[in-house]
Amino acid sequence: MPLANSSKILIVPIHPVDFELVSTLVSPLSKIFNCEVLLDNTNHINLLSTYDSSRAQFNSTKIISILFEKFKNFNGKILGVISVDLFIPVLTYVFGEAQLKGKIAVVSTFRLSEITYGLPENKKLTAERLLKEAVHELGHNFGLLHCENYLCVMHSSTSVEEVDIKTSSFCDKCYEELSRQIFSEFNDHHNGK
Ligand SMILES: [Zn+2]
Ligand SMILES: [Zn+2]
Repeated sequence: MPLANSSKILIVPIHPVDFELVSTLVSPLSKIFNCEVLLDNTNHINLLSTYDSSRAQFNSTKIISILFEKFKNFNGKILGVISVDLFIPVLTYVFGEAQLKGKIAVVSTFRLSEITYGLPENKKLTAERLLKEAVHELGHNFGLLHCENYLCVMHSSTSVEEVDIKTSSFCDKCYEELSRQIFSEFNDHHNGK
């Protein structure tokens, strides 16, 4: 069943992320979520206030706040893509973070690249991993929770090996829930909520 999705997704590459890598997301995301996907290259996001010098990492929750403020007039989802290492205070690192049933998501390519693990870069693998994490965080934006099916894209990955095990697709249960959430979002929108 195709999703009738009236939402829009704006992908925001955050300097100095590899723009070409980020652009590989556009076509698969528009197919998976069945909506218009745009790529922004006009906005400069200053991350200075999100940097934690004691951890040498960037606070993903603060990045979400910056994106929320910057794109408050955009009617749709915002996916920030970044190349620096992200954290939330209770975890050593995160691949990304999203507002549950909200508007903003952020993903990092940092721990998805083989270079971080001392291996030669594999652009195809990095792009596959990035797509999985992007679908996962946008899934949260559309109201999905974590799934215990380890092949499902909504499975919570704590390591890059787990990212590699899962697919970029929703399991049947999550897909059904996604359809329900998109349908109710569509109705809210059309009822002026
Ligand atoms: Zn998650
Ligand atoms: Zn699932």
